[in-house]
Amino acid sequence: MTVTDDIKITRARESKLKSLSIEDMHFGHSFSDHMFVAAYEDGKWQHLEIKPYQPITVSPACSAFHYGQSIFEGIKAFRDLKTKDIHIFRLNDHFKRFNTSAKRMNMPEVPEEIFKEGIMELIRMDEAWVPDIHDYSLYIRPFMFASEAFIGVRPATKYEFMVILSPTGPYYSKPMRLFAERHYVRASEGGVGFAKNAGNYGAAMYPTSLAKKNGFDQVLWMDAKEHKYVQECGTMNIFFVFGNTVVTPSLGEGTILDGVTRMSIIWLLKDMGYTVEERHLSLDEIEERYKKGELTEAFGTGTAAVILMISGLADGNNEMKFDERKWKVGPAVKIELDSIREGSAPDKYGWLEKI
Ligand SMILES: *Cc1c(COP(=O)(O)O)cnc(C)c1O
Repeated sequence: MTVTDDIKITRARESKLKSLSIEDMHFGHSFSDHMFVAAYEDGKWQHLEIKPYQPITVSPACSAFHYGQSIFEGIKAFRDLKTKDIHIFRLNDHFKRFNTSAKRMNMPEVPEEIFKEGIMELIRMDEAWVPDIHDYSLYIRPFMFASEAFIGVRPATKYEFMVILSPTGPYYSKPMRLFAERHYVRASEGGVGFAKNAGNYGAAMYPTSLAKKNGFDQVLWMDAKEHKYVQECGTMNIFFVFGNTVVTPSLGEGTILDGVTRMSIIWLLKDMGYTVEERHLSLDEIEERYKKGELTEAFGTGTAAVILMISGLADGNNEMKFDERKWKVGPAVKIELDSIREGSAPDKYGWLEKI
C-alpha cells in the first residue's frame, strides 16, 4: 500500500472553476475545489483525506491560537506551455524546509510520502486549476497547526496538516521602495528567523504598516544586534548588484529564511558568469558604494513574486534611488528562472517534479 491508497477521497459536487475569471487570480484570493488534510494523534499521522474545500472546526482552546505553534510553506506548480504537463518547482527543498520549521517549533515532522503524495494527489484532483497562461501558476499552501484543545504552555499532542491551492497571476510587479528599519527587528540570533512560522509574520506587520504610512512599500530588515547589516526585505530575500558581483546576506546566524528562490538564483547567476558572494553586507557599505556609482541595482526574491526590483532605499532621510535604465541582472535572471519553470528552457538542474 502506498500513502495514496490511504487517502479517503470525497469529491466536490460541482467545480467552482467555471465562475472564476482571470481577474480573480490575484495572489491568494481564490481557492481550488479540494483540500488535503491529515491529523497527528496518538503519536502518528492518520486520517489522510482529500475533501471539498471548506471551513474547518476547531475548539476555542485550540493551542495554535494561544501559543503559536503554526507553520507553513509556499510552493508553485506550473503548466508546461508546450506539453501541458504540470510540474512542481523544487518540491523536495520545500518539504525539507517545512520539517526544519516543524522541528524548531517543537511540532511533529510530516513524513515525506504524506507531504509529497498529499500535494500530488490534490493537484491531480484539481488539475484543471493549474493555469495554462504565461506568468500564471498554481500556488500551493501546505500548513500545520497545533489543534489540541487545552490552555497551557506545553507542546500540543494533536496537530493538523493541510494543503490548499490557489491559482495565481503575476504578483504586484511595481518596483519596491524600501525603508531600512533600524529600530524594530524581524529575527535575532538563536530565534526563529529561519523558520516559516506564523508568528514571524504577525510581528512584522506593525513596523511594515509604519513604513507604508510613510510612503514605502516594504521594510528592509537589519540585524538585531548592531542594526547595521541587511537581512531581508519584507518577506523576500535580497540581492545587491555591484557590477559583475552580486551580494546576498549569508544564512549563518539562522536569522534569514533559506529561500528556495534565493538558492535557485544564486546557481543561475553563477551560471550566467556573475560572482555571487554570500556574506555580511552593511548598510554603510551599500551607501558608500552607491555614492561611488558601483551599486547599480537591487532586488528581492521569493516564490510568490519571483523577483521584485527595488526602486529606492531610504536610511532615515537619505534615500538611494535606483535608475531603472541600469537594471540588467534582476530582469535577466527572472527570464532564466521563468523559462525553466514554464518549460521553454531545459530543466538542467532537475528542479521540476512532474505530476
Ligand atoms: C518564504 C520566505 C522567503 C522566500 O522563500 P522562497 O522559498 O524563495 O519562497 C524569504 N523570506 C521570508 C521571510 C519568507 O517567509
